[in-house]
Amino acid sequence: MYYQPTSVEEIKEVLALARQQNKRVKVVGGGHSPSDIACTDGFMIHMGKMNRVLQVDTEKKQVTVEAGILLADLHPQLDKHGLALSNLGAVSDVTAAGVIGSGTHNTGIKHGILATQVVALTLLTADGTILECSESSNAEVFQAARVHLGCLGVILTITLQCVPQFHLQETSFPSTLKEVLDNLDSHLKKSEYFRFLWFPHSENVSIIYQDHTNKPPSSSANWFWDYAIGFYLLEFLLWISTFLPGLVGWINRFFFWLLFTGKKENSNLSHKIFSYECRFKQHVQDWAIPREKTKEALLELKAMLEANPKVVAHYPVEVRFTRGDDILLSPCFQRDSCYMNIIMYRPYGKDVPRLDYWLAYETIMKKVGGRPHWAKAHNCTRKDFEKMYPAFPKFCAIREKLDPTGMFLNVYLEKVFY
Ligand SMILES: Cc1cc2nc3c(=O)[nH]c(=O)nc-3n(C[C@H](O)[C@H](O)[C@H](O)COP(=O)(O)OP(=O)(O)OC[C@H]3O[C@@H](n4cnc5c(N)ncnc54)[C@H](O)[C@@H]3O)c2cc1C
Repeated sequence: MYYQPTSVEEIKEVLALARQQNKRVKVVGGGHSPSDIACTDGFMIHMGKMNRVLQVDTEKKQVTVEAGILLADLHPQLDKHGLALSNLGAVSDVTAAGVIGSGTHNTGIKHGILATQVVALTLLTADGTILECSESSNAEVFQAARVHLGCLGVILTITLQCVPQFHLQETSFPSTLKEVLDNLDSHLKKSEYFRFLWFPHSENVSIIYQDHTNKPPSSSANWFWDYAIGFYLLEFLLWISTFLPGLVGWINRFFFWLLFTGKKENSNLSHKIFSYECRFKQHVQDWAIPREKTKEALLELKAMLEANPKVVAHYPVEVRFTRGDDILLSPCFQRDSCYMNIIMYRPYGKDVPRLDYWLAYETIMKKVGGRPHWAKAHNCTRKDFEKMYPAFPKFCAIREKLDPTGMFLNVYLEKVFY
C-alpha cells in the first residue's frame, strides 16, 4: 500500500494499521537513493505532501521544515531571508529527511556531511510517540537520528542551521594525479570546497575549487561542449566501448583532452554552484576512508587497473573531503574523511560489466578502513559494520528500543542489522 499523508494524524493512522496487520513500513523522500535502502514490499509512506517551511529564525539563522521538503524548494525560501545551507550534495531534488538519513555529503574539509547541519528534529516512533530531539533533549536519540537510515521511525520536522546567503566562484583546471596527491594538504587549505576528478587509465586530473566570492554571476556553460560532446558523443562512444572495452582508456584520455584541459570559471549563488546535472544512468560506489589514506588508496586503485588491463573504469573517480563528526552511523564518525566515488555508466540503459572493478575497489576500501555510503552500492553486512563503526552497538540498542518489532526494516536494513 502507498500513502501520501498530509498530517501527523494520518501518519499515525498508517502506523496503527501496520501494527494491526503486522506490516512493515518504509518512509520515502525523493526516492533517489541508488541502493535499495528506500524500498519495501510493505506499506510505503511518501512524504511529498509534508513539505512546508514551518519557521525561519533569522536571528539564529535557523529554519524548521517538514521532513518531506525538497531542497530545491527550500533554496528559494532561504534566498528570500538572505540565508543558505553551508553545504549541499550534487542534486537538490532530494528531501531534507532523505539526505540526512543516508548520510549525504559534499566536499570541504571544514564542512561535515549534510546531517551535521541539523540542530533539532522530531521523530514519530513505531508506537506513535513523538520525540523532540536535539543536543539538549533526547540527546542520545539525536546522536543516532541524524543519520537514521529510515529505521528509527518517521522524521516529521527538521531544524537546520543556516549561514548568511553567499555566492561561490567555481574554478576548474587540469593537473596530474601525482601533483594532486603530493600537494593534498595545500589544495585543502587553498580552497574551502576542494574536490578533484581522476580519469582512470591515465594520470589526468581535473581540480575543482569552489570559494566565496563577490563577483556577479557568470557561466562558462556551452551547449555544444556540455551536451553535444560531453553527453551525446560520450554516451555513443561508451556504448561502442561495450563491444570494444579496450576503448575505455582512450575515451577517458580523449575526453579529458577535449573538455578538461582548459581553465573554467563560473560564479553564482551557492546552491546553484553546488548542484550539478547528473545526466547519465549509472552505477556508483562511494566509500569514506580516513583522509590520510587518500594517496595510498588511489595509487592502489590505479596500480590494480594497470595490472589488470581487462578491468575497465569509466571517468571520473570523484574525490571529495569531509570533516569528522559524532553521529553514530555517519561514515565520517570521529574522523576527517576522503570520499572516493567510482562510477560505471549505462549507455542507452545498457549495463557494462563492472564486477571485477567493484570487487577490487571494495577490497581496497576495506583494507584502508573505509565505510560505504548508505545510499549507494556495497556488499557489506552486519559483521562488516560492527568492525567499521565503534558506535554500532549503541545505534542498535537505540533502534531496538524505538522499534522493537522491526516495523521500519526492509531487506536492505536486515543485512545491516541481522
Ligand atoms: C543524481 C544523484 C546525485 C547524488 N549526489 C550525491 C552527492 O553528491 N553526495 C551524496 O552523498 N549523495 C548523493 N546522492 C545520493 C542521495 O543524496 C541520497 O540517496 C539521498 O538520500 C536521496 O534523498 P531522497 O530524499 O531521495 O531520499 P530517499 O532515497 O527517499 O530515502 C533515503 C533514506 O531516508 C529515509 N527517509 C526519507 N524520508 C524519511 C522520513 N521522513 N522519515 C524517516 N525516514 C525517511 C528512507 O527510508 C531511506 O532510508 C545522489 C543521488 C543521485 C540520484
